[in-house]
Amino acid sequence: MALTSLIQRFRSFVGGIHPPYHKDLTDHQTIRQLPLPERVILPLSQHIGTPATACVKVGDTVLTGQMIGAADGPVSAPVHATISGTVTAIGMYPHPSGREVQSVVIESDGADEWVALPKRDGIGGVDNDTLRGWIADAGVVGLGGATFPTRVKMSPPETAQLDTLVINGAECEPYLTADHRLMVEEAGRIAEGGALIARILGVGRVIVGIEDNKADATVCMEKALTRLDPVRSGRLDVTVAVVPTKYPQGGEKQLIAVLTGREIPSGGLPMDVGVVVHNVGTAAAVSDAVLLGRPLVERVVTVTGEGLAAPGNARVRLGTPARALIEAFGGGEQVGKVVFGGPMMGVAQFHMEVPVIKGTSGILVLPPEAVTLEDIRPCIRCSACIEVCPIGLLPNMISVCAEQLAFAESEQYHPFDCIECGCCSYVCPSYRPLVQMIRYAKTEVRSLKQKAPH
Ligand code: SF4
Ligand code: SF4
Repeated sequence: MALTSLIQRFRSFVGGIHPPYHKDLTDHQTIRQLPLPERVILPLSQHIGTPATACVKVGDTVLTGQMIGAADGPVSAPVHATISGTVTAIGMYPHPSGREVQSVVIESDGADEWVALPKRDGIGGVDNDTLRGWIADAGVVGLGGATFPTRVKMSPPETAQLDTLVINGAECEPYLTADHRLMVEEAGRIAEGGALIARILGVGRVIVGIEDNKADATVCMEKALTRLDPVRSGRLDVTVAVVPTKYPQGGEKQLIAVLTGREIPSGGLPMDVGVVVHNVGTAAAVSDAVLLGRPLVERVVTVTGEGLAAPGNARVRLGTPARALIEAFGGGEQVGKVVFGGPMMGVAQFHMEVPVIKGTSGILVLPPEAVTLEDIRPCIRCSACIEVCPIGLLPNMISVCAEQLAFAESEQYHPFDCIECGCCSYVCPSYRPLVQMIRYAKTEVRSLKQKAPH
């Protein structure tokens, strides 16, 4: 069957900002293959949910791809060795979240000897529960940063009426281009993974959302999707949706609203409007797990920023310490700030040995002169924060409530609908730490609710 173009243009959402994107530092660089790390630090918590339980001990020799941490409970994910070598320590190590968590340390034997992977000869006759099991066993979680175990997201309740899968290739965070390069260089893996997820969820419509600053990725995704059997035969209705470049276009709520016209209700989930969203990296990892039986041991990471001599993208073994990557991309002794993620939603790090984990899409390295600390001033009621909030919240009011410790009162302003995109803080002329105050309000309201008699 001949296909007309899958590409369609869509409008943007209300609110949002246009920060300097700095993507030109890395968006043209092909994904580098780095030498194997000498040592990896693998946190047993690289996902939302219960941490995995170590199933190796100090002194054990392990192979690449061997499970070293078993999933513990319904919302959990296993962790695999990402190099072959010897387990030299199991203990508390720095984690990109800022905490210390139980981690397994492996010293490399330099051989990268893999565990035997299962043989997969086609999946036509394989039932969906088995496919979900393979995805769970491979330790796949949301690679866009949310790190929710993918098997759970693929097991909707029977009452859910899903009809659409959105593959998120928007990558709206400034500086980051890992998803962009993956779409350009490995679109086939993403397309296969997307078709598999659609099959497991039983949906007939797939929309791949890409911002209009990635024209080459749009073309590559269209070509790869056009080659898929279910698309050629018309069993899968696929659109490559070009959306205007605006932050936070990649937010689930914003992308769903733009692509489907459906609004997720306050406190609701994409599933409530018939949609499931998966990141492009997650789709590629699903393809590897199902078609190759390959566990998640590496991911593409953007290592970028003005603090590096040669920023770029690399395929990185999970557990690689930040220091090794920063050195590989030309970072000198004088580093001002290291952020895991992008400048809008990333987390500043206090330790150079913090490892790349499943949710690490980028490492941003800024020089000392780019790091400034502004004085926080009172709110001047300019309403700039309200105008840019993509959810339509009153960030100034939630922040004032938190400042005055009036947490119960803050609830009337719906802090839990905040997606923590940081647009409000970005535009505030008084440099008020609005997102931090909203997070504070959320934590305190949660704790008040836990303490309240039932
Ligand atoms: S209140 Fe939350 S959702 Fe609204 S702009 Fe601020 S961080 Fe983003
Ligand atoms: S942007 Fe800052 S100063 Fe303006 S209303 Fe919001 S909190 Fe107040």
